[in-house]
Amino acid sequence: MRKTVTFGGITAEPGTKKSGWAPVLDTDYKLPVTVINGVDNGKTILLTSSIHGCEYPSIEAVFRVAETLDPKEVSGAIVVINPVNVDGFLTRTPYLVPRDGKNLNRLFPGDPEGTLGDKIAYVLTEDFQKKVDFHLDTHGGDIPETQLSYVYYPGISEAKEALRISEEAAEYVLHAEFLIKSQAVNHAYNYAAILGIPSLMLELGDNARWTEEEVSLYLENIYNVLRYLKVLPGEAEKRHRDIKRITEGEYLDADYSGRWYAFVGREDSVKKGQKIGEIRDLFGNVLKEYYAEYDGVVLMVVSTLAIKEGAPIIAYGR
Ligand SMILES: [Zn+2]
Repeated sequence: MRKTVTFGGITAEPGTKKSGWAPVLDTDYKLPVTVINGVDNGKTILLTSSIHGCEYPSIEAVFRVAETLDPKEVSGAIVVINPVNVDGFLTRTPYLVPRDGKNLNRLFPGDPEGTLGDKIAYVLTEDFQKKVDFHLDTHGGDIPETQLSYVYYPGISEAKEALRISEEAAEYVLHAEFLIKSQAVNHAYNYAAILGIPSLMLELGDNARWTEEEVSLYLENIYNVLRYLKVLPGEAEKRHRDIKRITEGEYLDADYSGRWYAFVGREDSVKKGQKIGEIRDLFGNVLKEYYAEYDGVVLMVVSTLAIKEGAPIIAYGR
């Protein structure tokens, strides 16, 4: 017999879907949650979007999953939080939680005594990640990011089985240019893997654009992974298109605020020692030059002229 499930105070009986607002500790901030409880037993999946507020193809795709998926088709449960960063989404703030200026996807496992971003990460970890079997987190290129499509899987955890399932699940993401083994630990999906919960992070779309085609591709990716996890009926399809495998990545952040000039574009090859960009002050003086440390390919370039110290500028990998 399928059981009733409750997440963040939102309870769904077998074969039903319930939406509501989950509180975040002692704050006035709430997370929009939809619990889709199936009729048959199966895994419980956490599906999140808008940890970064303006990565629209993912956000729209996950809205559609929450609004259109029939619980009668589901085995197990799908718990959707979207947008996680409600304020960032509504105020069109790239990367950051507006109230504390922190990048939520660097704060896991969070801190109940911290600022709002720390508390959101803490609640996501304690009340959601720890109660599920898989975490699928969805992203894309935020307002300043020119990039391609990626599937990231966690590379660091004592829980080897969680890493194995994550890597296997990545083979079922149909539309992506790059497959990246992540060495990070404080992103939402990385922390899930450290807890022993397999996970993936998907990225598709860039510069906060969104088209119907991108949303459709995103939905195909999400639904195929859900079929692989057997929470949706039907045979999951393995990816048949070529994908570039990245085993090492450099993610550079700005050392200064000022003007950012990139000398390479997304997908360009870079050679070791090649100048890839520089930051100038407001009078044109060069503050910092950036050079590739090894031969690789450009994964993401920030396209805005203005840059703030600490913000991402470029990523490349091999
Ligand atoms: Zn993101």
